Amino acid sequence: MERCEGYYRLENRRCDRAATRDVRAADGDFYVVCDYHSRQGWTASVARWHGESDSRASAPAPLRPSVQPAA
Ligand SMILES: [Zn+2]
Repeated sequence: MERCEGYYRLENRRCDRAATRDVRAADGDFYVVCDYHSRQGWTASVARWHGESDSRASAPAPLRPSVQPAA
């Protein structure tokens, strides 16, 4: 399984868990995240990374809430 793309802002590091699902972030793109990050909603951040490394490839973006009202 791919590594979670969750980003810990305070610690400036990538999540170490395995991703379990795709979620849509505020930038409109989908990211793979672990169960923990998928439940965090707006309090969590995700980012693009260079492969499975800790090297960040994009600016962090907040996650959308997992439950969204119908458009
Ligand atoms: Zn995570």
